[in-house]
Amino acid sequence: VKFVYDFTEGNKDLKDLLGGKGANLAEMTNLGLPVPPGFTITTEACKVYLDSGDEPAALRDEVSAHLTALEKKMGKKLGQADDPLLVSVRSGAKFSMPGMMDTVLNIGLSDKSVQGLAKQAGDDRFAWDSYRRLIQMFGKTVLGVDGELFEDALEKAKDAKKVTVDTDLDADGLKKLVTKFKKIVKTEAGRDFPQDPREQMDLAIHAVFDSWNTERAKLYRRQERIPHDLGTAVNVCSMVFGNLGADSGTGVAFTRDPASGQQGVYGDYLQNAQGEDVVAGIRNTVPLADLERIDKKSYDQLMQIMETLETHYKDLCDIEFTIERGQLWMLQTRVGKRTAGAAFRIATQLVDQGLIDEAEALQRVSGAQLAQLMFPRFDEDAKVSQLGRGIAASPGAAVGKAVFDSYTAIKWSRSGEKVILIRRETNPDDLDGMIAAEGILTSRGGKTSHAAVVARGMGKTCVCGAEDLEVDTKRRRLTVNGHVVEEGDVVSIDGSTGKVYLGEVPVVPSPVVEYFEGRMHAGADDADELVQAVHRIMAFADGKRRLRVRANADNAEDALRARRFGAQGIGLCRTEHMFLGERREMVERLILADTEEEREKALKELLPLQKRDFVELFEAMDGLPVTVRLLDPPLHEFLPDITELSVRVALAESRKDHNENDLRLLQAVHRLHEQNPMLGLRGVRLGLVIPGLFTMQVRAIAEAAAERKEAKGDPRAEIMIPLVGTVQELEIVRDEAEQVIAEVERSTGVALKLALGTMIELPRAALTAGQIAEAAEFFSFGTNDLTQTVWGFSRDDVEASFFTAYLEKGIFGVSPFETIDKDGVGKLVRDAVEAGRATRPDLKLGICGEHGGDPESVHFFHEVGLDYVSCSPFRIPVARLEAGRAAS
Ligand code: PEP
Ligand code: MG
Repeated sequence: VKFVYDFTEGNKDLKDLLGGKGANLAEMTNLGLPVPPGFTITTEACKVYLDSGDEPAALRDEVSAHLTALEKKMGKKLGQADDPLLVSVRSGAKFSMPGMMDTVLNIGLSDKSVQGLAKQAGDDRFAWDSYRRLIQMFGKTVLGVDGELFEDALEKAKDAKKVTVDTDLDADGLKKLVTKFKKIVKTEAGRDFPQDPREQMDLAIHAVFDSWNTERAKLYRRQERIPHDLGTAVNVCSMVFGNLGADSGTGVAFTRDPASGQQGVYGDYLQNAQGEDVVAGIRNTVPLADLERIDKKSYDQLMQIMETLETHYKDLCDIEFTIERGQLWMLQTRVGKRTAGAAFRIATQLVDQGLIDEAEALQRVSGAQLAQLMFPRFDEDAKVSQLGRGIAASPGAAVGKAVFDSYTAIKWSRSGEKVILIRRETNPDDLDGMIAAEGILTSRGGKTSHAAVVARGMGKTCVCGAEDLEVDTKRRRLTVNGHVVEEGDVVSIDGSTGKVYLGEVPVVPSPVVEYFEGRMHAGADDADELVQAVHRIMAFADGKRRLRVRANADNAEDALRARRFGAQGIGLCRTEHMFLGERREMVERLILADTEEEREKALKELLPLQKRDFVELFEAMDGLPVTVRLLDPPLHEFLPDITELSVRVALAESRKDHNENDLRLLQAVHRLHEQNPMLGLRGVRLGLVIPGLFTMQVRAIAEAAAERKEAKGDPRAEIMIPLVGTVQELEIVRDEAEQVIAEVERSTGVALKLALGTMIELPRAALTAGQIAEAAEFFSFGTNDLTQTVWGFSRDDVEASFFTAYLEKGIFGVSPFETIDKDGVGKLVRDAVEAGRATRPDLKLGICGEHGGDPESVHFFHEVGLDYVSCSPFRIPVARLEAGRAAS
């Protein structure tokens, strides 16, 4: 195998091997753009190193060969005393992990070559500053020296010279600082700073490999669901310098606004600085547009290159560049992260520009982004007290208590508080706190600062660079225009406008929800661009998808909303939800009935109420299928809590005050008490042991359907039997149901076509699906119970008990109750689909567990050939979109 690729050898499709940065550097090189020469060490080499603790045997020679070629190209040798070639050693994984892994710049400088660099650059100060940066970065990332020690020494040096910024330290000061830094390395790392440039390079490469497995990198990967076994590539790139004076600088740019999608000049530029200074948000940058004034030639060239990149990648690109004494160099590009709203707008803009087609547009957005756009926003008419304004870095409306460090953010959020993390700027160590917070607010840094980039990636609300805010992390407070916000005070931040408010600002629904609700029309003159883009993308998705999308709904209101959101029927009406409130007592009477008459009486009471429910539901869903599931939960759920009732009875006893009803209730509660109610008397089992219960429900459905037909409606009821494990259970219930339906047809004179089917939610049902299909006209997979029973995980308990530990250990990247476990539960689904269809080719197949609205799961259900997914009304747009993406 080949472990090293020259930039001229790779291309953008080799991200697995070369990482995102390496693949794109190669792509730009091949496009003829000005990229400083270099080479990439593959992720394969990293994997060998991480697995075995040592680099692959062939790596050293390959690196030597590529280094020699690089030296030849550059006309100087690495660390050459009179004119040194310097290189950067940068991490670069397949997926971008901003600031999570290591980078070392200025490799090749030593006590000797620093003199050569000074002579070549004609600038002593620059050379010594570069050397001190190398020792600092190398000491911290490669040798593990506490970075604070260097920072403190730097501060002291500045104090001694009575200057405030680094750039005011002269060559002499920096020379002394280098000596000091070398001493720190010696004491802390127990070794000298290596003078041999090749040793520097090799150690830096290993450090980058190692940085794949730092705690913060692992945490980031878990958060972003990036697999842990990918490894990082390492890019060795000849150095160019943005810190050689006023005609040099460094910047970042976007081909479009990553927040709105608008085309234009977006980015930040920092004169006389090295790359890391911008991303770290340490010094304040100027808008990219100012570069036109500062260096017109480089600006024009950059605009040209941005145009080339957009057309080539057919997408928004973000770019890092450096200008060295008037010469522009491209250090990185990639298809840029963007906000959810921008993703929709950009996708439709690119279709309009003819750069991509509809199918590709669907791949440029995601259900997760659509879900984000459905979040509420701040009420514009609310009375507010604005504290200040920063840069709108990541949209959303976040309200919470002010906290000034990550530790407090985590602690408070664990105890259920909503918090806003406020920092001067964030760095990778703040990741935990950012995850815990509702939103992030910083007083420094631009759209490309760490806080902004990471928050956008996480879909978290962020306002950055709010410069009026004076953040004092030591005293845990911020001051703005004489106003003081203490830790614990409530603040509200708007990531779409950048505004920061004191107190809790009320929120209003998102325009995207207003659109789905039919309260805003995409065609209207004042419809905003985002709504139009969403409208178009949804049309693309609906045009492409094969899966139908139904709703889980059990009342007319939810059904109507689901319909507005595009539901094509109801896939699950949970009838137990119809027995809440005052009706609970009727069920109680049914359970307590000692005689046949009492039971009949209780059922008669329930029948008309059930019927009304169904009439309303069928009317709301007129012309569309409605799957009504017969009663499922254990009966004790309808009875009072055992402890409460026992106390009540005991108290009454002590007062010699006998309540006959309570006593009977308590007996019933004891009789029905189960150790494992989820595995007990519920679903079809109830129907089989409580005479008349299921037939009452079937009668209510049939009579409701007949009534709707007589009213010239078009009811399409389907009756679904839950928790079936064997075809015999289904056959008995089915026979009874058919008799009742025939009776209703006779008595009303209305012909009813009611489909009868079953849920597949027990492993045995899935394993015997071929037999069960004999008695079922449709299957609906109940993946909640199926996941529970296949894994043996109690669905009501495990997520709160040990799932965090499982997620941390990487046993699964996401809860199997959230995203379908393809290998286990999914395999049963796949096999049951096949067996069911083999028995009954026209078997209708759906899924109504929580997974029906989960993006990744929707793709799976598309792939195994289901006819529809059913999910809660609010997730319907997401399911439609993902079904469209899956099919294109
Ligand atoms: C299921 O088990 O997946 C299902 C939809 O039924 P319920 O959640 O009501 O048990
Ligand atoms: Mg179930």
